[in-house]
Amino acid sequence: MPQADKQPIPFASFRPLEQELDADLRAAFARVYANSWYISGQEDAAFEAAFAAFCGVRHCVGCGNGLDALVLILKAMGIGPGDEVLVPSNTFIATVLAVSYAGAAPVLVEPQPDTFNIDPARIEAAVTPRTKAVIAVHLYGQCADMDPILAVARRHGLKVIEDAAQAHGARYRGRRAGSLGDAAGFSFYPGKNLGALGDAGCVTTNDPALAARVRALGDYGSDAKYHHIYKGQNSRLDELQAAFLAAKLPHLDRMNAARRDIAARYLAGITNPAVKLPAVASDCEPVWHVFAVRCEQRDALEAHLAAAGIGTNKHYPTPIHLQGAYAEWGLGPGSYPLAEQISATELSLPMYYGMTGAQVQAVIDAVNAFAP
Ligand SMILES: *Cc1c(COP(=O)(O)O)cnc(C)c1O
Repeated sequence: MPQADKQPIPFASFRPLEQELDADLRAAFARVYANSWYISGQEDAAFEAAFAAFCGVRHCVGCGNGLDALVLILKAMGIGPGDEVLVPSNTFIATVLAVSYAGAAPVLVEPQPDTFNIDPARIEAAVTPRTKAVIAVHLYGQCADMDPILAVARRHGLKVIEDAAQAHGARYRGRRAGSLGDAAGFSFYPGKNLGALGDAGCVTTNDPALAARVRALGDYGSDAKYHHIYKGQNSRLDELQAAFLAAKLPHLDRMNAARRDIAARYLAGITNPAVKLPAVASDCEPVWHVFAVRCEQRDALEAHLAAAGIGTNKHYPTPIHLQGAYAEWGLGPGSYPLAEQISATELSLPMYYGMTGAQVQAVIDAVNAFAP
């Protein structure tokens, strides 16, 4: 029941971290403004080096956003018209749009229903002579099962791209997201685990030639000023965003640990049999970008929590093959049953750095009080 003395609990909030780092963020702004250099300068270079070290990779290339990061990787790999790229059926649409932007054909692959991540066995079944790559999305902050994915990919000569937009700092068998495949795309959209104060993204890789191509492709295809070797695009990292990101990065592990604590409390405290809790794979240390529960009466649960002043979200309410953007596929309901089932039953609970113990308990109590 909603109580008058309870503050509403938002789905997410940036305020606790921003208040903590207020002086650092203002100093970052002041430094860039004093320097009067706004794109691809020393702040960008410093953040790239710090984020590469954080992920345990040799190269990081800043870019405009997470979608561009994936597009730049695909183009840098020479993937385009006539090629097929395997993508999860239940991802955020940006993963799929990246393949379309590169001019290749996205091919949807259903997930493992317990982890929500792309199913390595189904990858093998989807490979054709045209398949060039697989994009493994670390959905909700838990890494995809990368070793079997890499094994299938090696057997068929496919590139493995990580969409790590939801997984900054997550680990798989001890290794960080961003270091697990041939290249990874990150988003620093404000709501991600590491968020800028606007749009930003990056590519990580251990391949120096690929990193150089990504950098050139994001800068009008130029490898030197006014010297253009590719028909590139404009997707670079702003100095201001790089400076803000560099101020936040030293706090990322701590912020992720706070999310892990919230998740642990949810996992221990939510006992309502109508609510299915998310599974953690044994090899994974997720960073809980999203705490995704499943409920057959999802919309009623959403309304019940809203009435208690608790914000929720759905990741994602309409699967990609049923979106107007891909009407050209002519696919109706039933085409990707697992993606459809997740869309119909998934609800994301509040999860953010700075959420108080009382707020976490209030969510647990409200979920347990739900009677379908
Ligand atoms: C956020 C997100 C993207 C896109 O990132 P933007 O910076 O918003 O372009 C791509 N893939 C996944 C899985 C995401 O969550």
